[in-house]
Amino acid sequence: MSLLEEKYMKITIPLICVITLLSNFVYIFYESQIGRQSHESVNLFTYKTPDNEIWINKDKSALERMRSHYIKGSDNIIASLEAESQKIKLLQHLEPETQEMLVPQQRMSTNFLIINTIIIISGFSVFCFITLKRKQTKRQNSAGYDSSGADKQLQEVETVSKNKKSVMDNKSSSNSQVLNKTKDIICEILQIINKYSYSDISPTKDSLDNFAREQVSKIKESLTLDDFITIESNINKIIPKHFETTRNLVSVKFNELRSMLNELAEDFGSITEDNTNFSGQIKDSMSHIEKAIELDEIKEIRRKITLETNSLRNVIAKKQEKDAIIIDSLTHKVKTIQGELASAKEEVLIDGLTQIYNRKAFDKKIGDAFIKKSIKKTPFTLVMVDIDYFKKVNDRYGHTVGDEVLKKVASTIKKTFRLNDFVARYGGEEFSVMIDRIDRNYILKVCERLRAAIEAINFTMDAEKIPTTASIGVAFSSSTDTSRTLIERADRALYLAKESGRNMVKSEEDLSSKKLEAVS
Ligand code: GH3
Ligand code: MG
Ligand code: MG
Repeated sequence: MSLLEEKYMKITIPLICVITLLSNFVYIFYESQIGRQSHESVNLFTYKTPDNEIWINKDKSALERMRSHYIKGSDNIIASLEAESQKIKLLQHLEPETQEMLVPQQRMSTNFLIINTIIIISGFSVFCFITLKRKQTKRQNSAGYDSSGADKQLQEVETVSKNKKSVMDNKSSSNSQVLNKTKDIICEILQIINKYSYSDISPTKDSLDNFAREQVSKIKESLTLDDFITIESNINKIIPKHFETTRNLVSVKFNELRSMLNELAEDFGSITEDNTNFSGQIKDSMSHIEKAIELDEIKEIRRKITLETNSLRNVIAKKQEKDAIIIDSLTHKVKTIQGELASAKEEVLIDGLTQIYNRKAFDKKIGDAFIKKSIKKTPFTLVMVDIDYFKKVNDRYGHTVGDEVLKKVASTIKKTFRLNDFVARYGGEEFSVMIDRIDRNYILKVCERLRAAIEAINFTMDAEKIPTTASIGVAFSSSTDTSRTLIERADRALYLAKESGRNMVKSEEDLSSKKLEAVS
């Protein structure tokens, strides 16, 4: 049955029933009381009283008046009727033929009711059918539907059925889509919440994960709006609590970080001069982090942390660059100082007046030589030089002139020997030379050349030549020598030269020959 038919049936059936009942009621109510006798031969009207008496009369108005009297309960009905000059008779009082003639009136009334009902129902049915047909034809025409009547009806039924099914399917599908979309959105929200929770900081991430998974499975299983409302309420309860916990944790971690960085800044503060700036920058960064903590969104906090971490990293990198420059500079300075120290040390070993090694240098040198000698067994020669009568020079020309003479003699000694030979000022007007060879001929020849060179120094004062001569003593090291014994022999050779008249060279061998002379 099509929707259209259903609609019509819903309206027409009650309508037909109402009309039929109404018409029958009207008929029963009126025609049972005042029925016109259709019998042609006897033109009579009847009235059936509540006491089931049937009155008849040819005059309808008279009969109605009688009925009125009867209803009002008049005691004098007959009198009244008589007053109306009407002949009223009870049906029972009529002749049998007349009664028979009147009785079918009741049968006729029942038939009327049945026929009336059939006519009305049939009439309405035909009317409805025709109306439906017209409407269907009209709709098919408007839809361009071209088909035979039976097919049209069948297809109409199918189409309506399909449409209905389609509408229902669409409705169901739409509901399902909305449900799925809602599920997707809630799942997405949970995933976003999960994603933005800081896994490195929040130890409750696992619990949030479990919660999210649980809610997702509930969402997937849920079928009603009530289920969603319950899930939403759960999420609303748990998520803010979680973020509150996370924020507190972040805050605690930042406080720890802050104290660590402050300590770091203080440590840096004691190293170089721009620590004030450095620790200031760290403190600035920390205040930015603190501001970030106040923000509601964990994502924003993470972004700020990344920015500030990079900023700190840059500050530290710049600091390291500066430190590297400072370290380079310091290294250079240290090297310079080392050089200066070396030259200072050297200066300590150099005699200020004559610019040759001093006594200290000599002592060290000869000490080392004996250590080397014991190891390598390499002998050397010690030469001692003493200027003759130098006191007189001072006395006669002054100390300044004496100094100049000392300088001149020192440079002469230096020039006479090789670069490898060690020339030092032993003390006062006395000099020492260490030569790393012991071939006597060579040594004595060189010493003689030195004596001659000193004697040849042409130092004049007021056009007067200052006499400069020196006595020289030579000693050769032996395996049994110490620095002291060697120096003593060289000294003794020197004194021998002095004793022998000065301005001469004497060696330790001369000491031996002198002993022999003394003995003989
Ligand atoms: P001799 O031939 O015996 O060595 O006699 P001498 O005068 O050289 O020896 P003496 O030891 O008597 O005198 C050494 C002098 O050398 C005494 C001192 O004033 C002088 N003298 C020592 N050191 C310096 C110095 O640095 N400058 C000057 N101008 N004189 C010095
Ligand atoms: Mg002397
Ligand atoms: Mg002297």
